[in-house]
Order: sequence, then C-alpha cells, then structure tokens
Amino acid sequence: SPSSSKRSSDNSGDKASLTRFDTLPQYQQITMIREGAQQLGLDDPFFRPHEGVAGAITRIGGRELINYSSYNYLGLVGDERINAAATDAMATYGTTVSASRIVSGERPIHRQLERAIADSYGCDDAVAFVSGHATNVSTLGELMGPRDLILHDEWMHNSALVGAQLSGAKRISFPHNDTASLASLLERHREQFERVMIVIEGLYSMDGDVPDLHAFIDLKRRHQCWLMVDEAHSFGILGQRGLGLREHAQVNASDVDIWMGTLSKSLASCGGYITGCQALVDTLRYLAPGFLYSVGLPPQVTAPAIRALEIMHEEPERVARLHNISRYFLDKAKAIGLDTGNSIGVAVVPVITGSSLKAARVAQTLFASGINVQPIVYPAVPERAARLRFFLSSEHQQAQVDYTMQHLQSAMQQS
Ligand code: PMP
Repeated sequence: SPSSSKRSSDNSGDKASLTRFDTLPQYQQITMIREGAQQLGLDDPFFRPHEGVAGAITRIGGRELINYSSYNYLGLVGDERINAAATDAMATYGTTVSASRIVSGERPIHRQLERAIADSYGCDDAVAFVSGHATNVSTLGELMGPRDLILHDEWMHNSALVGAQLSGAKRISFPHNDTASLASLLERHREQFERVMIVIEGLYSMDGDVPDLHAFIDLKRRHQCWLMVDEAHSFGILGQRGLGLREHAQVNASDVDIWMGTLSKSLASCGGYITGCQALVDTLRYLAPGFLYSVGLPPQVTAPAIRALEIMHEEPERVARLHNISRYFLDKAKAIGLDTGNSIGVAVVPVITGSSLKAARVAQTLFASGINVQPIVYPAVPERAARLRFFLSSEHQQAQVDYTMQHLQSAMQQS
C-alpha cells in the first residue's frame, strides 16, 4: 500500500522517541540503504545537479555526459521558440497568476492550452493542473468514493495509487497488462460496487511496454466501467504523429473515458491535464481539490506547453527520430545479448541486471565513462528485476548509442 512504509514499528512505549524524526521507520530505511551503498563503495546516484538543459547531452559536475535519465522525449527543453513563449508570457502576465483560476487566476492562455490539448485528442474539453502528480491524485480522489472500485495495473504510477487511496474506494491491482486477470476480477467484484474505474498507463516507464487498449475497452464496455489512461509517457511519443496510445492503437478518443497526461515530459513544461467529455471536465474544474484550491498554472509554464504542442504537430519528424533512435537502441542492446524485458522500443528501454548491486555498479561504471543512466533498484522493483532505465530522446545520435553499447557490454560483464 502507498502508506505501508509509514506504519510505526516502535512499540517501546517511549513516546518521547516518537517525536524524533530519526525514529521514523522510513527514515531508518533510507539511512540503512545509504550506509549500505557507502560500504560497497557506491556513489549516491540521486539528486545529482544537472548544470544546464538536460537533453541527449547533459552537464554534471562540470563534465558533459550522454544522458538517458530525462523525459525530454522530443528534445524541446531549451528550444528557443519555447523559451521565447515563456519570456513573452512572463512579460504580459508576470510570474504567477496569484490565485486559483476560479477566483481571479484565469488567463486567456489557460483556455488556449486546454483547447489545444482537447483538440489534439478530439475531446470536448480539457483541464490543466499545476502538476501531473496532483492531476491523478485529485481526479481519482474526486471522482471515486467509498461505494466504488478502482482496478489498476500493478505497475501504475504512485500518483494514481495515492488518488485511489484518497477517494476511499476499494482498490485492487491486477498483474501487469493482464486483461484475463482483470476480466476475472470484474466478474467477481463488479456487482458489489457502484462505479468502477480501470486505470492503466499508455506506455509503462518501467518496462517500456504498452497495454492492449482494445482488450481494455472491450472489458470496460462489457462490465460498464470507466477506463482512465495515464499518458505521461505516451503522449508526444506513441503513434506516427505522437498523438499517443489513441493513435498507436487506432481507437477513437471517446473509447476511453478519461485521458490524463503531463506537461513535464514531451511538452517541455510542468503540470498535468485531463481531457474527455464536457461533464467530466466541468466536474473537475469546479470540484477537484488540486485544481480548485491551488493556484492556476504559471504563465511561463502555460505558454511553453502551448508552443510545444504546436511544434509537436508541425514537426512530426521529431517523433519519427525518437522512434528510429529508440528502435536502434533496442536492436543494439538485444544484439549484444542484454535483457530488455518487454520493451517495444519506443522511448524507454530497460536493461535488466538481475540484482540491485549490479544495477548500481553498472550505472556507476557508465557514469565514469560519460554516460548518465539511473539504476532502478529494490524495493522500487523486485530484486530480480533490478535494472537500468534508458530514456531516449529525438536528439540522441547513433554514435552516442554505439558508444553506450560498447561501455554497457563491458560494464555488464565486469560487474
Ligand atoms: N503519471 C506517470 C505515469 C508518471 O510517470 C509521472 C511522473 N513521472 C506522473 C504521472 C506525474 O507527473 P509529473 O512529474 O509531471 O508531476
């Protein structure tokens, strides 16, 4: 459960110790992991400051590295047209809208962004939140209640789990992408609940694989449920034009009840959105706590997202480049015998190392060779599934991938 690590293990009755933060079990766990890593001679790979735009290349500690740890999928961060959009919006509106949109925080660019998002999907309307995480928390928290059921993929992002928990609905996970298990859960439980929501992602950032959307749509129709798709890693990425899972699976926008996405990845900004039918969007606009009780999106964040969306539509070659280089990466990795799990070879390619220690060691060796990639270790994934996660961008070059493969192969053999 999202809160299980928060349960106190201190039964000593010593209430004074409970007022100290260093007795928190979750703090003790972090400390143990850090100390263990130190003893094994591993550098801490977390919170490393990047000293400029993090694209296919980044700068850390004064060194330039090939970078596979950012979600800058279309290479738009730092694009001067997007920077200019931010500067212009700031010149007009300043750095904040100073209130929730319902009160006095509404600006024309907010509606412009939401219209552009809704049109990109072919939906009635959209609503933009100040963070992608808050979007999932508030949407699930608002729409679902104690008489309802949320069924989600076991690899669903934390934001949806927290939203589900906030809603008070019953929450059951099904094995990753397993529609047969979902079907039997629906057969067993559907009748006992009022509303049922199935929550999946458009492209899973852990494995780089996609759900069988047609099978999910079929199930949600048969069992009278809602289907929500989180497109954080699929909008701007999947489909020839980057229109996401809808384009990849060739379905209509209205086949999915709730499309969710973030502005922080392919759209080079910050924030999240929901797009769908008018009643859904109006409900969230008037009631979702993370929208209603939070400041509107800042101008210098809103305008770049509008511009990024325009560029995405005008320059589909970015999406094509992303697809080509990702496929190149996957093919090369497979050719040298690496385990890339179920990755379909679009934007995300994991390399499974089989142990947390090996993942950390290989990442450290690569870092020394000028390659930045994050290890994903237990407990984020089961120990056997520890991995390095490579995020590609449209701006990566084949020579960078070749260099990476050469070093990755020897690091995997030596670690
Ligand atoms: N959903 C998914 C699937 C994500 O991966 C993330 C962030 N990595 C979010 C939601 C939250 O988005 P943001 O970082 O833009 O708040």
